Amino acid sequence: MELSDKENIIYWAKRLYERQMSPSTSGNISIKTNQGILITASGTCACDLEKDDIVLIDYNGNLVEGNKKPSSEKIMHCEIYTKRDDIGAIIHCHCPVICAYCVAGVPMKAPILPDFAVLYDEIPIVPYYCPSTIELAQVIGEYFEDGYSAVLLKNHGIVLGANDLKSAFYQLDLIRAYAETCFGAEILGGAKPISKKEVQELRMLYRKK
Ligand code: 13P
Ligand code: ZN
Repeated sequence: MELSDKENIIYWAKRLYERQMSPSTSGNISIKTNQGILITASGTCACDLEKDDIVLIDYNGNLVEGNKKPSSEKIMHCEIYTKRDDIGAIIHCHCPVICAYCVAGVPMKAPILPDFAVLYDEIPIVPYYCPSTIELAQVIGEYFEDGYSAVLLKNHGIVLGANDLKSAFYQLDLIRAYAETCFGAEILGGAKPISKKEVQELRMLYRKK
């Protein structure tokens, strides 16, 4: 059965919550549609989303359809879609194990696992700006314009854009796994990265797949 756009958001939001990537009412999700941007309403919990918790906005963040207040990070979502045609879905979340990097101010870049190294050179840290502000939205937009599709927000959370929601969720799950692996490896003496040459070799191999 084909899911509607709203059902699709609800489905992946629940999976995000079940993976403990979106505590309480933190975070927000959106997708690009022919009518505009479908985005979660402000203050909603990913686990309890219902269809009327998802509203339609235009690319300036104005409400087009729905009775609830759009996410307070709506301008951030608008900026990313405006800067990047290839992005069709965005997830912003406060996943605790990923937030550990955000609060420590440590970017993710060690090529310690093949699946991570194939996708990312670095997931950088965006300097701290008050959440939900235009300043934060604009700075994040600049990172996406520079080609990053995932960024860590200092003392806040992560934003990731992808083709569709399924791909966004899978990438976030991979980033969560990377973070957990690093923490585990710390106890065992620290993760040992693979070399630049080995990363190149990996990328050649995966591109051929
Ligand atoms: P909203 O509930 O308004 O979407 O905001 C949550 C959040 O994560 C703010 O950064
Ligand atoms: Zn947030």
